[in-house]
Formats: sequence, structure tokens, C-alpha cells
Amino acid sequence: MKMSKLNKLNLSLSKLGFGAMRLPHKDGAIDQEQVNSMVKYAFDNGINYFDTAYVYNKGGSEIALGIALKQLNREDFFVADKLPLWTANSAEYFDRVFNKSLERLQTDYIDFYLMHALDREVYENMLKYDAINWAIQKKKEGKIKYLGFSIHDDYDFLLEVLKQYDWDFAQIQFNYLDLEDNPGEKGYLELLKRDIPIIIMEPLKGGLLSDIPDNIAAPFRELDGSNVSYAFRWLAEKQGIVTVLSGMSNMQQLEQNIEVFKDIQPLSDEEHKAILKVEENIKSSQKVKCTGCAYCMPCPFGVEIPGIFKAWNTKSMNISSNWISGTDIDYESAQKCVECGQCMIHCPQHIQIPEMLQKLISEKS
Ligand code: SF4
Ligand code: SF4
Repeated sequence: MKMSKLNKLNLSLSKLGFGAMRLPHKDGAIDQEQVNSMVKYAFDNGINYFDTAYVYNKGGSEIALGIALKQLNREDFFVADKLPLWTANSAEYFDRVFNKSLERLQTDYIDFYLMHALDREVYENMLKYDAINWAIQKKKEGKIKYLGFSIHDDYDFLLEVLKQYDWDFAQIQFNYLDLEDNPGEKGYLELLKRDIPIIIMEPLKGGLLSDIPDNIAAPFRELDGSNVSYAFRWLAEKQGIVTVLSGMSNMQQLEQNIEVFKDIQPLSDEEHKAILKVEENIKSSQKVKCTGCAYCMPCPFGVEIPGIFKAWNTKSMNISSNWISGTDIDYESAQKCVECGQCMIHCPQHIQIPEMLQKLISEKS
């Protein structure tokens, strides 16, 4: 496994991180047995960074990861967890949530703790309830080792967040399709300039950069590598990026990801050109920039938002091919939208969800 040396923090992190946002399920629940095997396999193959959040799977991710990590010595790995600020309503809330995370993870401390999914609205709560000073106190107590944030907003907002604290690290969404915003390439370069270690989320844009239909990924097919390997290698060669998180959903995916990071090589000029071409192909065929994160769910009116958007994108990206699986758009579900706007508050991609649903429906008729 390729490792990243963080001289600033005097640590060595695996270049590939284990994302516990999309853990495997069986009979409607997290498949603990498989999670245990995956965590052990990941660790045995050099992964030492495990990322979860208080809200993932309504706490199920922390619990499953906590059980699986019990197989390892606590000093041998790093666990990252996140404080959901959008539901904060008092200063005591932070202690309550944090203690619950410790309990679920069966640990006394969290190595990397993040202000979760900062955007302008969430940020208001962070300031209102003085979350940073609360976290600084936890650092003093040794309960948090390193303090950072994850962000889903633009470059100007990133600058505002950077004024608030001398952050130990930052987590951003970045991949060859997300260059322009959230906070995009400018955001990445800003963090690099400030020597803030960078953790990457959504390197595959919710799986989109892995499941690229052949007609769109044709430039890759003329070369050697897989879709996944190009997305990872594009990131891994960038300075300042210490760990690339990948949401691990099954053992096969984990093995595939580890294989890429075992001996990751810089991209050739030809490979860079192929990535640019695939990026253009995707952008010209995609309908909506949904990553499938499901932060917008549940919709109180029963609209299956991520599934609908996934099917819409899949269908549009395959318009000229025979590849049809996953393209059944649930129009009936889309029609249940009453445009209440509740889902949009939580969408890190700032998608105008009801507007897009209307567009989808109008395209059908
Ligand atoms: S705007 Fe539509 S999709 Fe979003 S929560 Fe309201 S009803 Fe559901
Ligand atoms: S619409 Fe937004 S919040 Fe919902 S799944 Fe897509 S990206 Fe996530």
C-alpha cells in the first residue's frame, strides 16, 4: 500500500482510506460478518485510515465499524468521525453526540474529527454554538487528536472556514469531474498552498466514475487500466492529497481498490488526455450531478430521489448503447413530489431537486 507521510502531524497514513458510508447490507441490515472480513483484509493490506460519521446508516456505520475494528490494536489504525452540525440545537448537543460516537465505536478517542459537511447554513450553527472551542477542549482532553472539516460549498466559503481555525486537515470532494465547484480545483490548490493535509471524498463521484458505460469510457478502453484506476491515479499523484477515501460496499470492490493502490503509478500524457476526453463525454450526457449520498432522504412524500436520479443519468449516458440495466426510472415516485423543498436543505451538491424532478417528468411526456 502506498503511504503518505504527514510531516506536519508526524504520521503516516495509507493513501487509500476505508470509507464506511456504503457498507454491505444483507436482509435489510448491515452485514457485520462481511464488514469484519473487509476491515481485517483492508488492514492486512496496509489501510490504516477508517472513516465514518455519526449519521451514516443512522449510526449503524459507527456501530459496525466499532465491532470490526475490535479485531485490531487501537494504536495501529486511525479512525475518522464527524460532528453533524445541522441538527445542533445547544452546546450540550456536541457532548451528547460525541459521547455516543465513542460508545458506538467502542473507543476512548477519535483520531481525526471533522465538522461534517460544512456549507453556509451548517456553518451558522458551528459559530452559534461555538463548536470549534468545544472541539479544542476535546483536543486538550486527548479525546480528539486532529481537528478538521469536510466541506460542500464554494471556494469563497472555504476561505471563510479557513479563517476560523488552524485546521489540522481538511476533507474535500474532488475528482476529475468535480473541478469547478464544491470547492473544486481552486479549493484544492488553496489547501495545498496552506500546507493543510487533504483527504478526498467521493473520488468516484458516488460510483459514477466506476460504472461508466463503454461508449462513454471508450478512450480508456484504448488503454490498459480500469475506470476506477484512472479516477484514483488522477488523485493519487496530486501533491498534498494524503488519503483518498473510497466507500467500500463489498469485498470485491475493496480488493480492486487495494490492487490499484498497491503500486500506484503517475499518469502518462496519453492517459491524461484520455481522462479529459472521458470527462467531456460524461458532462455532455449527464442529466443531474447527484452522487447518490442520500442525505436528502427520506422524502416525507415518498420520492426515491437518489434512485430516480441514478436511473435518469444512467439512461441518458447509455442513450446510444444497448446497456440498459439500472435505467428504469420510477416516474410514479417522481410524481409524488409536492415541491416542499425539504430535501434541498441537505443536498451537498446543491441540486434543485424538485425542479430536476419536474424536468424529468416533462421529458417523458
Ligand atoms: S421537494 Fe419533493 S422530493 Fe424534495 S422532500 Fe419535498 S416532496 Fe420530497
Ligand atoms: S440529490 Fe443530493 S442529497 Fe440527494 S442523493 Fe443526490 S447528491 Fe445526495
